[in-house]
Amino acid sequence: MPQYRAAWLLPISQPPIRDAWLRTDRGRVIAFGHTRPGDFTAPDEIDLGDVAVLPGLVNAHTHLELSWMRGRLPETDDFDGWIRRIIELKTESAKHGAAVAAATDEAIREARAFGTAVVGDITNSLATSRPLKEHGLAAVVFHELLGFRSEDAARLMQEAVAGLQSEPASDLVRHTLAPHAPYSVSPALFGLIRAALQHDPFGRSSVHLGESAAEIEFLKYGTGPCRTGLERMGKWDPSWVCPQSGPVEYLDRMGVLDDRVLVVHGVHFGEAELKRVAAKGATLVTCPRGNIRTGAGTPPIEEFFDSGVRIAVGTDSLASVPDLNLFAELEEMRRLAPALPARLLVESATINGARALGFDSDFGTIDSGKRDALIAVQLDGYVPNVEEYLVSGIEASQISWIPPS
Ligand SMILES: [Zn+2]
Repeated sequence: MPQYRAAWLLPISQPPIRDAWLRTDRGRVIAFGHTRPGDFTAPDEIDLGDVAVLPGLVNAHTHLELSWMRGRLPETDDFDGWIRRIIELKTESAKHGAAVAAATDEAIREARAFGTAVVGDITNSLATSRPLKEHGLAAVVFHELLGFRSEDAARLMQEAVAGLQSEPASDLVRHTLAPHAPYSVSPALFGLIRAALQHDPFGRSSVHLGESAAEIEFLKYGTGPCRTGLERMGKWDPSWVCPQSGPVEYLDRMGVLDDRVLVVHGVHFGEAELKRVAAKGATLVTCPRGNIRTGAGTPPIEEFFDSGVRIAVGTDSLASVPDLNLFAELEEMRRLAPALPARLLVESATINGARALGFDSDFGTIDSGKRDALIAVQLDGYVPNVEEYLVSGIEASQISWIPPS
């Protein structure tokens, strides 16, 4: 029953505690508090020193299977060109089998080294499920479907369900289905995924939405790079009826938005759309570094938080960012929204992501009964505002796990 002492403890569910102690037992937190002079010191107490102890972070959106693309796509302001390049590389991935698996493994290790306890991982193959289980990283693995021709919807669904049945889930790694985006998924396929998840008690889902200007144009007018891309790939469906609306309204009309959906990106959402996402109880996952590097745009972080929508944060894939450091996303959010309380940013990388992924009974806060998936971040001497410190840029060398794993 180890007891720890630390300069700061961030339970997240309550304000940071200075000069704190924490006790764990059999993988769970059992008690913690502020150390007063003369307080009982457990004989096996471990003094962690000048660190901030906080729950392991939740990276709510990544694509671990794309990790082998690290460094292959330069930063750009041409999002449509970036997407075309990703599609080309994806078709090559079969050629790089062993390298793809090795890069996935390495990315999971890297995520842990950056203090990540839980990931929301998007995969088109379910190939990441096994390595996630082997490394003991908690995850929701979203089996993502793409298919814009409605005639393909039933077959794609059957294949996806068969795939899910062939790969067993575990306590820490759960599986579910996710439509990719409104410009790559037919209304028929959206409907089948929604129907399949409706009676699933877990039933989380995820969708890329409001990511680029091209998506907005496509849904409003049926034109632009999304349309020409579908035509070029032979995936265009002439029976598709242009919704002539924004992406949030389109998905809401199809009954896709609810409190179990992670809406990813939202770079191009207006105020009314943010409020509509909030009213549905969905979580908006922002990936600011990736949005900027891929040319999707700069996410309006302050507007996101002002709208009242629940915000979680993700790194997106190593195709679009240089590392899986979620603290670097917080640093980017702080740069984009200097007036926001740091507490809100820290919550987005912990409890908000855990809630969105359905893992909040075990992760996301330090509370009695939750898992002891805790990290200690080395501080630089006396830190008057520990939350501000945590959003100012933290490197892997500052992070260790408690207990060490
Ligand atoms: Zn993504």
